Amino acid sequence: MKSIVPFISRLPKRDINQWLKVLNKKLPREKVVKFSNIKKSDYKNIDVAIVANPEPADVIKLVNLKWIQSIWAGVEKLVVRFKDEKVKIVRLVDPEMNRTMAEAVLSWVLYLHRDMPFYKVLQNKRIWKEADYIKPFEKTIGFIGLGELGKAAALKLTQNNFNVCGWSATKKNISKVKSYTGQLGLKKMLKQTDILVCLIPLTNKTKYLLNYKTLSYLKKGASIINFARGAIINSKDLVKHLNSRRIKHAVLDVFEREPLPKESILWKNKNITILPHISAHTDPGTASDVVSKNIKLYRSKNRIPRSVNIVRSY
Ligand code: NAP
Repeated sequence: MKSIVPFISRLPKRDINQWLKVLNKKLPREKVVKFSNIKKSDYKNIDVAIVANPEPADVIKLVNLKWIQSIWAGVEKLVVRFKDEKVKIVRLVDPEMNRTMAEAVLSWVLYLHRDMPFYKVLQNKRIWKEADYIKPFEKTIGFIGLGELGKAAALKLTQNNFNVCGWSATKKNISKVKSYTGQLGLKKMLKQTDILVCLIPLTNKTKYLLNYKTLSYLKKGASIINFARGAIINSKDLVKHLNSRRIKHAVLDVFEREPLPKESILWKNKNITILPHISAHTDPGTASDVVSKNIKLYRSKNRIPRSVNIVRSY
C-alpha cells in the first residue's frame, strides 16, 4: 500500500495541483495529497510532509511527523514556528536554483558595473555623456553569505574577472574568493566593496545586519543588491545613504512586506531598482527531483536529509 505524503501549502490552487501532479509522477510509491483531502484517521500514520508556506495548525495535527521538506530555500518562518517541535526542517537545496541565482547576480552586477541606472537618467534628460569605464578586476564584489547560493554566485563573478570576497559564519576556501568572518571581518570586507550582494538567511543575528552604521563602512559610491530577505537591510537607513549619495544604487528583490505595498517610499526612489522577488524561483521540475530523491532515500535507508540547525536558525 502507498504511504500518504501530505502537501501542506497556502499556494494558489493551480500551483498546488501542478506540484501534486509532478510529485506523484516522481514518487510512484507514495500518495502525495493535499492536506485537506487526508482523513483524520490517517494523521497518525504520516511521518513526512512536503510544505510551502503551510498553515502551522495543519502541520501540528500530524503527531508522528518526523520531518518536513520545504520546496523553498528560505525557511525562516518555519524555523520560528517549529523551533520547539521535534519535527526536523529540510530546506530545498537545488543546483538549478544555485545556477539561476548565480545568473541573476551576474546580470544585476553587470547592470550596476556598466552604470545602467546612470545612463537611464541621462536618457530621460536627453543628455549624451560618457561615464568612465572601470574594468571588472578593478571592482570588488562583496558577498554577505557564502552558502549554496552565495558560493555559486561568487564563483560566477570570478569567472567574469571581478575581484570577489565574502563574509560568512565560518571561514571558506573558495578559489579566488577572499573569505572574512566575524564583526571585524565584516567591516574589513565592506570597506573594500564596490557592489555588495546579500545572500544570507534571515535570523535573529542577521535582522538589520545592514543598518546606518554597517552601510557606512561601504566604499563611497558603492551599490547594493539584496536577493536574500528584506529585513536583512534596514530600508530607512538605506534610503538615507541613497539620498546622500553615499550609496549609489540599490537593486532590491525582497522586502519586509511582499508584495511591496503601493504606498512604500521605495517605489519612487530613483536610486532603487525594485524587483518582485524573482531572482531565483523554485523550479518544480528540478525541485521535485530533489524532493523525491530525499523521500526515496528516507524510505530505503531511514535517513533524514540534512536539516536546519535550530540553534543557528539556518
Ligand atoms: P545557506 O546555504 O544556508 O548559506 C547561508 C550563508 O550565510 C552561509 O555562508 C552562512 O555561513 C552564512 N551565515 C548565516 N548566518 C550568518 C551569520 N550570523 N553571520 C555570518 N554568516 C552567516 O543558504 P542559501 O541557500 O545560500 O540561501 C541564502 C538565502 O537566500 C536564503 O535563506 C533565502 O532567504 C534567500 N533566497 C532568496 C531567493 C530569491 O528569489 N530572492 C531564492 C532562494 C533563497 P556558514 O557557511 O559559515 O554557515
